[in-house]
Amino acid sequence: MCSMEQVKHLLGISGGKDSAALAIYMSKNYPTLDIEYYTCDTGKELKETYDLIKKLNSVLGKNIELYNSIDEENSPMDNPFDHFLALYGSYLPSPMARWCTKKMKLEPFENRVGDAPTISYVGIRGDENREGYVSKKENIQTIFPFRKNIWSEDVVKKVLANENIDKLKNYYESVVHEKSLLENLLEYVCRPISVQFTQKQKVNALLDADIKSFNKVVFEYLKTTDYPVGQLDSFSLIENTDNIGLQDVFDILESSGVGIPAYYKPIEYEVEIDGEIKKGTYSRSRSGCFFCFYQQKIEWVWLLEQHPDLYEKAVGYEKDGYAWAEETLEELRKPERVKAIKKEHYLRTLRQEKRSRTNSSWQDEILQAEGEGCASCFI
Ligand code: SF4
Repeated sequence: MCSMEQVKHLLGISGGKDSAALAIYMSKNYPTLDIEYYTCDTGKELKETYDLIKKLNSVLGKNIELYNSIDEENSPMDNPFDHFLALYGSYLPSPMARWCTKKMKLEPFENRVGDAPTISYVGIRGDENREGYVSKKENIQTIFPFRKNIWSEDVVKKVLANENIDKLKNYYESVVHEKSLLENLLEYVCRPISVQFTQKQKVNALLDADIKSFNKVVFEYLKTTDYPVGQLDSFSLIENTDNIGLQDVFDILESSGVGIPAYYKPIEYEVEIDGEIKKGTYSRSRSGCFFCFYQQKIEWVWLLEQHPDLYEKAVGYEKDGYAWAEETLEELRKPERVKAIKKEHYLRTLRQEKRSRTNSSWQDEILQAEGEGCASCFI
């Protein structure tokens, strides 16, 4: 069995709020874990992202390592994005051809890890319904400390497989000493996964009954596998019962002094609808490259009005028939399009507020926008 030191602990900082909050949370709650914090720079992030990483450096008391995707000294380009864009013949990345994430985020991470057993901590929150990036490399295991279920889908699937029911029963009997709790848990443990009782229902039932015993059982199971967590003598995260949501993330950032990146804060805009001036708010819902193709139209308008220089640069990439979205940025910046996008955004927000009978907050907008996109860039 490997000792604690032989398994690497890594935490990637994308520049977004959740990974920044996770880094602060881990350094505060698990100071004995020797975590290496890293970032993969595309060269095209917003200034606020670079400011956030600088502030984090001082709060963590550790230097955030930069995992390079290119050898800048030997590249004709002075930044990773332009280097790879030239290699791809000016073919802009898109949700269908996301070479940017692969080349500038995932490959530098996996190259750096090599074959070492590695635990990667990812900041998917307890109030999100998505799975973060889980490497296909067997020596890399992903852990989600912000969720009630800290384990990745592949681990849960193996642990709860019907053929493991007897093994699981034995583990539970050895870790749970309270009779009534054990009886309750064994009811779920012994019930096979089926159409009537899915894997999701089973894991939720076991976690709702007792998070710590589930974690201890998974840890016992992992010791019989090659998973990196199973190679540790002990793993402090199995005692974790936190469930961290969006507001908690903002609280962690504010109370640490790092603060919330300015681009998340709502800014007022005006739009004329049926002869009346209406006031709405817009902001950016995520970190990442300033020209990221996952932006909503209202975010492009935000970029145009709040960072016209960056919008101009994004326009400069659109040539040879390639565009960031289904309409070109030259089209999108026409006054009639800007007005139409604001109007559509204003009315959509109003409809949502009526449906929920409360004022739609800027946090709600972030929650809605988060569903789509790249977990490596925006967490
Ligand atoms: S932020 Fe968007 S454009 Fe930048 S690397 Fe990520 S997916 Fe690609």
